[in-house]
Amino acid sequence: MSKNKSKLSIAASFIAASVLVFASCSKEKIAVNAVNESANNNLTEVAVAASNMVANQALVKFRKGTPANAKNDAFARISARTEEFIFTKSMEASGETEGLYLISFPAAVPQALVALQSMPFIEFAEPNYVYQHAATSSDPYFTNGSLWGMSNTGFGCGAQTAWTNNRTGSSNVVVAIIDEGFDNQHEDLASNSWINPGETANDGIDNDNNGYIDDVYGWDFDGNNNSTFDGAGDDHGTHVAGTIGAVSNTVGVVGVNWNVKMMSCKFLGSTGGTTANAVKAVDYVTALKNKGINIVASNNSWGGGGFSAALHAAISRANTAGVLFIAAAGNSGTNNDATASFPGNYSISNKSGGKTYAALANMIVVAAIASNGTKASFSQYGAKTVHLGAPGVNIFSTLPYNTYGSYNGTSMATPHVTGAAALYKSINSGASASAVKSGILTKVTKISSLTGKCTTGGRLNVSGF
Ligand code: CA
Ligand code: CA
Repeated sequence: MSKNKSKLSIAASFIAASVLVFASCSKEKIAVNAVNESANNNLTEVAVAASNMVANQALVKFRKGTPANAKNDAFARISARTEEFIFTKSMEASGETEGLYLISFPAAVPQALVALQSMPFIEFAEPNYVYQHAATSSDPYFTNGSLWGMSNTGFGCGAQTAWTNNRTGSSNVVVAIIDEGFDNQHEDLASNSWINPGETANDGIDNDNNGYIDDVYGWDFDGNNNSTFDGAGDDHGTHVAGTIGAVSNTVGVVGVNWNVKMMSCKFLGSTGGTTANAVKAVDYVTALKNKGINIVASNNSWGGGGFSAALHAAISRANTAGVLFIAAAGNSGTNNDATASFPGNYSISNKSGGKTYAALANMIVVAAIASNGTKASFSQYGAKTVHLGAPGVNIFSTLPYNTYGSYNGTSMATPHVTGAAALYKSINSGASASAVKSGILTKVTKISSLTGKCTTGGRLNVSGF
């Protein structure tokens, strides 16, 4: 909890200037485009606080064929400058031509968005949201080693039974961890850390031509470098990794998979992560999948902000490529059917700026349960927007530098399901993304605590894989 608080306070301080200047409008709806309303639900329109977006920045996409002088004119009208032009390999491969502009400007975000959205040529303009990981608290001194989440008794996910049946995963299956980085030299993670087969380490060359030089373990989109593990601050990502695939050995913990390869896509830094970097991380995974890397899913134990057309498009490209996007439901205890929460609510259709954005079929959204089978009090839920529950309270896993600890959160429930996707794929190597998803969802065990709280009304159970 203290860690989470410290991250939030850092995020708050770096947007302090805009909050002070524009305090009176910080709780207003920021703009039509930035507020979601579901096409098939009466969702509450949520005002996204200024603290949940990067101050004085926006993401802009122009309509196809917009001439350069029109773009310059649009930016000049709000005295904007281009911080970054984002045009990923995955955008290019999908036929996109316009890319995304990350711009900065002197005005507050709401005013700038109103101005931009009134201009011709603009397809969308939206905040560069800041996402936070979805762990609620930590107990670094938790040492009893009780991995109830893996158990085949009580309300564990039944991995213990799968292991007994010699279903222990496969090093041919890859999952992407879109999060903080993780400690790929940890005694319980090193041998299950993915190494890019197309990249030669430290030769300064982008050998596999994916746009990233020496991306051996993945990429750090927050720091824009190839160092995906940057120390003790990468505890959340390291914890997620251990639940998916800590090695079975004589030390520490064990993951759902004894064998798997985990790719690090670090985009959460000390102040959280932005929409711009989330888009790049998702597209990085998609591009590698399209190059033939056997990536079954990405794990997304983070959330925040409002509807983003840019992130929706990136997850849609992952859907086309056949990569599952497994997401935490969130830790505010609320109903996602009534109060939209992202990225989870990309699993249903959304309306924004007068357009309808399709439900994304590659999403699995995960709530948290406790060891007594109750829904965790913090866990968000939704009969239409959340798919299943998984262990997310008192979850023991890996932490940086060969240490271990217990965390709570839908952040911890989600990697149980990502681990299940990898396990299912290891048994059914030809399964499509939709087949892996239905394989997981049809094998849940229904429990009363989740009745009416998620689409399946059940908890993860891999014992029958
Ligand atoms: Ca590369
Ligand atoms: Ca780094």
